[in-house]
Amino acid sequence: MNERVYNFYPGPATLPLPVLEAAREELLAFQSSGMSVMEISHRSKQYEGLQNETADRLKRLLKIGDNYKVLFLQGGASMQFDMVPMNFLTPEKTADYLVTGSFAQKAAAEGKYFGQVHTAVDTKEENFRRIPDPAELKFSPNPVYVHITSNNTIYGTQWQTFPDCGDVPLVADMSSDILSRPFDAKPFGLIYAGAQKNLGPAGVTIVIIREDLLAKANPNLPVMYRYETFAKNNSLYNTPPTFSIYMVSLVLKWLEDQGGVEAIYKHNQEKAALIYDAIDQSSGFYQGHAEKNSRSLMNVTFRLPSTELEEKFVREATDQGLVGLKGHRSVGGLRASIYNAMSYEGCKALADFMKDFLAKNG
Ligand SMILES: *Cc1c(COP(=O)(O)O)cnc(C)c1O
Repeated sequence: MNERVYNFYPGPATLPLPVLEAAREELLAFQSSGMSVMEISHRSKQYEGLQNETADRLKRLLKIGDNYKVLFLQGGASMQFDMVPMNFLTPEKTADYLVTGSFAQKAAAEGKYFGQVHTAVDTKEENFRRIPDPAELKFSPNPVYVHITSNNTIYGTQWQTFPDCGDVPLVADMSSDILSRPFDAKPFGLIYAGAQKNLGPAGVTIVIIREDLLAKANPNLPVMYRYETFAKNNSLYNTPPTFSIYMVSLVLKWLEDQGGVEAIYKHNQEKAALIYDAIDQSSGFYQGHAEKNSRSLMNVTFRLPSTELEEKFVREATDQGLVGLKGHRSVGGLRASIYNAMSYEGCKALADFMKDFLAKNG
């Protein structure tokens, strides 16, 4: 078998080795069914049990109340850019969007198909290198929700504290940092996340929705666009992506074994510090893209003095088993995605490589 590398790809992203091993172990026969989890009916007791257990475990890990429902959808986070406004926005109503990166921008653009979009802040002019201060947020008088992207995957910025919007429900795209740190879920009416960064493989999107918001959703939508359809039918109205959900269940078990969200948060801080320290101690050779107080624990973005050096860095890192480090084209430079499943050793190997590369090329 090929040796595994340290995988810094932004998504799909590295998965915990014990999760892959567990999946391999029971690939041919899930529990005592004599069938692969890929082969059993989504209506079987075994599958439904697995899915319910996964939803419960997620609620437990996030410490969210029983007034939230966990839904398993498809179409990625991008589909939620449409479903959220489709369900809650009408032409007369306004939703506020905090535009702190390109996914936030895309979400806001989709909102316009269904109602009024008010941009409460937009940091594009600064190439999204920071999270705005609370005083910069200019909310509209009566929004139906405030949409926020908790972690800006491409730019490497992350909201450190969430804005106070009073009774207006926050709707959050947490695709790239869900379960990476503790937070108070109460102000959130809806949280969504594509699984392929911090939760498992591609193919399933998790939606966590508060019942009072669900009750306000537009009932006059085609069936597959209604959150109500998934809520009422326990996400089994049609065939869910069963294998992806199974993989999410393994990732959540692994996370519990790690000590849950508090423990992984501490771990994530230690991991990120290794790489940020390598940037900060490089006398300017490495330039972080994000402002210091906006730095993400999940995606570390930085540049080198020239694109030639950046290309060389990527090439030599790859040779040493550090892969997926090329930055997104809109930022350039490098990006190390260090989600929950990335090990401390992986981050240490990257930080050591950075120091070594600086010594030879600085
Ligand atoms: C990756 C990502 C998306 C896009 O997710 P898809 O599942 O590909 O639609 C949206 N938002 C954020 C914050 C992301 O990191």
